[in-house]
Amino acid sequence: MTRPVTTMRCVVVREHGGFDKLLLTERPIPTPGPGQVRVRVRAIGLNHLDTWVRRGVPGHAFPLPLIPSSDAAGVIDALGSDVHGHKEGDAVVVLPGVSCGACEACHSGIDQLCRSYHILGESCDGTAAEYVCVPAANVAPLPAGLSFEQGASICLVFQTAWNMLVRRAELRAGETALVHAGLSGVGSAAVQIANVLGAQVIATAGGPAKCERVRALGAHHVIDHTQQDVAAAVRALTGKAGVHVVFEHTGAATFDASLKCLARGGRLVTCGATTGGDVRLSLHAVFFKNLSILGSTMGSNGDLRGVLRLFEQGRLRPVLDRALPLAQVAEAHRLLEARQALGKLVLTP
Ligand code: ZN
Repeated sequence: MTRPVTTMRCVVVREHGGFDKLLLTERPIPTPGPGQVRVRVRAIGLNHLDTWVRRGVPGHAFPLPLIPSSDAAGVIDALGSDVHGHKEGDAVVVLPGVSCGACEACHSGIDQLCRSYHILGESCDGTAAEYVCVPAANVAPLPAGLSFEQGASICLVFQTAWNMLVRRAELRAGETALVHAGLSGVGSAAVQIANVLGAQVIATAGGPAKCERVRALGAHHVIDHTQQDVAAAVRALTGKAGVHVVFEHTGAATFDASLKCLARGGRLVTCGATTGGDVRLSLHAVFFKNLSILGSTMGSNGDLRGVLRLFEQGRLRPVLDRALPLAQVAEAHRLLEARQALGKLVLTP
């Protein structure tokens, strides 16, 4: 039986809950509006954000029903009116952050602080579909040499990690950074970016297989947090001095150790809080040690375009665990939540 060509397959979350809330369904293929391009999606990248959209977040209302997912790569197959600089057939990656483009924040290159900033798959329909329409400003050429699967695994995590290390923590060459969960999506981005910046990288990972992979990404030291006390290991590695920057994205499970690992004058930069967001913080430690605690969400699309150039140059590389068919979206969520993936998970429609 052939499917009518006016509909597309997609994932929809109608209500929050378990893996069974990821509904595979059909919807009309969207038509690009003015200033938009339509992308025929070839690969969809999964992030922890996808699992929050599925499960729900206390105190936050997602606009359900919603097509989840923020990352994608594919081919432009239709243009709305007033689109310049793109053509049908262009291979692109989708930039997940959408902003107004006209306000003070947007004009200052910090579009993630725009009052109307939103993330695809979080506050509007996302990329877990055969087609997605996005503003023309939200696509960039797929870096040469990368597959669609690899391209779909880059944007959200590298944009996030770049903003954290470069813009917020201002990590410099010769400094030492501690990166938690160095094989997670954002962790594997941070290990590579810190390395490109010329920093010494200490990363953590759970188990020998993950540790080996993190070392291959460019970490100078890898601590197996299932075997070693992270704070003690960092003290030993730094001659008791501590690190200049802690890249914190796991939250409650690691925050205490993160504070202990900071050198005097150290900066802790945090996003995600994937193990919980409520932590204890001694203000005495903050002021006696001259610490900075920095929050960060997403990053600018200008920075992301620069990051994509580093992929083009082969100085950063995607960390892909596996690609699964779109129909196995629930299995992909399970792998992500069980932390069983050795890198990013991608779905192919
Ligand atoms: Zn704006």
